[in-house]
Amino acid sequence: MLAKNLKWRKQLSGKVIIANTTGLCFGVERALEIVLNLAKQGKKVATLGPLAHNSFINSELSQKNVKIISCVSELKKNTVLVVRAHGISKNIMEEIKNLGIEYEDATCPFVAKIHRVVSSVPKGCVILIAGNKFHPEVVGILGHCKNEGIVFKNYEELKKLTAKMDTNLEAMAVAQTTFCLNEWLRCTDLLKEKFKRIKFVNTVCAETQKRQSETEQISKISDVMLVIGDPGSSNTLKLKNIGSKYCKTYLVESARQIRSGQITRKKIGLTTGTSTPDNIIEEVLRRMSEILNNESEDEEIASSQNGEDEQSFSEMLEESLKELNTSKHVRATVEKITPNEVYVNIGRKQTGFIPISELSSDPSVKPEDVVRVGDELDLLVLKVNDQEGMVMLSKRRMEQSKGFKEMAKAFENKTPLKGIVTEIVKGGLIVPLEGVRVFVPNSQATTSKDDVLEDLLQKEITFRIIEVDRAKNKVVGSVKSILNDERKKLQEKFWETAEIGKKYKGTVKTLKEYGAFVDVGGIDGMLHISEISWTRISHPSDVFKVGDEIEVYIKNLNPETKKISLGYKKDEDNPWEKIRNNYEVGDVIDVKIVGFTDFGAFARVKEGVDGLIHISQIADYRVEIPQDVLEIGQVVKVAIREIDFENKRLSLSIKEVKDEDKLSG
Ligand code: SF4
Repeated sequence: MLAKNLKWRKQLSGKVIIANTTGLCFGVERALEIVLNLAKQGKKVATLGPLAHNSFINSELSQKNVKIISCVSELKKNTVLVVRAHGISKNIMEEIKNLGIEYEDATCPFVAKIHRVVSSVPKGCVILIAGNKFHPEVVGILGHCKNEGIVFKNYEELKKLTAKMDTNLEAMAVAQTTFCLNEWLRCTDLLKEKFKRIKFVNTVCAETQKRQSETEQISKISDVMLVIGDPGSSNTLKLKNIGSKYCKTYLVESARQIRSGQITRKKIGLTTGTSTPDNIIEEVLRRMSEILNNESEDEEIASSQNGEDEQSFSEMLEESLKELNTSKHVRATVEKITPNEVYVNIGRKQTGFIPISELSSDPSVKPEDVVRVGDELDLLVLKVNDQEGMVMLSKRRMEQSKGFKEMAKAFENKTPLKGIVTEIVKGGLIVPLEGVRVFVPNSQATTSKDDVLEDLLQKEITFRIIEVDRAKNKVVGSVKSILNDERKKLQEKFWETAEIGKKYKGTVKTLKEYGAFVDVGGIDGMLHISEISWTRISHPSDVFKVGDEIEVYIKNLNPETKKISLGYKKDEDNPWEKIRNNYEVGDVIDVKIVGFTDFGAFARVKEGVDGLIHISQIADYRVEIPQDVLEIGQVVKVAIREIDFENKRLSLSIKEVKDEDKLSG
């Protein structure tokens, strides 16, 4: 967050001096973007060590289910490993590659530069590293040294070390990126005296240098200095040490730690570590605003009585924040594409880059799917870092701005739009279109709640825009609106020609206990369970499954209520009709015993038709109970004694068959 606004600084002068360089540094912000982007794509993510020395960032990541692991062996299956800005040793990187682990290297480019320097020294060259040998960045650097690396933490330690060294050797000195610049300069002076052949690469990161020198300048003219950051952050502690040399300096992690006694009626300086996110800084400023406004209430009353119309601290803060959001457009040419960024030429001395999250509204696309080297792009400027010569740009937001206009037009004209579903999110679908993420709520995605949303993933859908809210960055689409229109047309056509007895080819839509709903062309008709089969079924699924194409006919219809009932089973399949056509009294047939009662046994004549063999007709002798003579599943010869079509009854006899046998015998 930059407090460059002159008016803002003028108004604050005498109360709060905010360093120009605050908030997340380039390296940490870049690493955070990479992790958040992966999490957004629904990937399981783990970082090798905490991503930032900041508990707020780490707890936010933990809420997004990003895990922190301390070594590669702790990595769970199907998890993308992110190497944080601190970097890692060459060996660990090789281990990751050899194991075929999916990974993203978020090593800060400034740290990677140190890796290149220490890995390309001549043979025998002494590598001296200014820094904390236990800090992960230094551990990583040591793991890239071509020759053995020697770490020293300050001037005093270096002095003792060099006293025992062969200073005739060739040497190379680098520093941890967050090393204190003044200390580095003292050390290089000493090394120049000791070594005849020594090369220095000042690898103290420019971001760190700037923060340290601003802290020194501000603390010299302040009564109290606030350093916002995590006590575990090396660069934050250095800023505190620098501030402490000149004034009372407090290290605060969040607004909650600020006490009115720390800042009241004093000239306050403020800076932050490189892992302190903007929202924490904003909270701290608000808290300071509350305290300072309370303290100066009496003065404000006096001022307003004198006709002065001063802006409140909060108003000035708001104004400052608004200024940061002001964006400009640039036309740029794509120069280089990496997995996480696209570098562009913006025709100025700064390098422009588009983080992958700012490339497209579809988080699943790869940079090379979106742009090619040489492409000319219209881009929105998000952030300018003069210090690093970097300009952060967005293609996505530029397109989004144009896209919103298109969406508003489509909304007004009710134009049907087509797009591919790229995400299923809680509550609906996402369809990226014209740089805008169109949200289609579940209730608007299909016409039936039984439809499965996942089936639409990566499929093209046609929808209509039903809401555009530029302020909330919200565009809502509806597939249902289109389907309802199509359905309405089909329904009108259906009712023009519908009549009882008319046959239709229909699709089974849903199955219920009491029957099936069948789409007969834009309208769902009810097929009662009793109309499905001539035989007894316990559920429509005994005969159909959803999606079956079947032939039905209209049994009844009501154009008023727009309800139709359907028939499916056919007369020619009625088993009693088959009995009528194929059997007559006296016929001898084979039947299967299917059940018993006290007065006889039931025998299956045909599927759907069972006849009764009365107990007196089972044998030519007295039978106590049918089971004494017959058993379930047994096939017996019977003679048809009587057919009652009206009451659907059939009377059978085993005894008569035996009599006949006797006669014929
Ligand atoms: S402090 Fe500098 S070197 Fe370290 S991560 Fe931030 S930008 Fe990179």
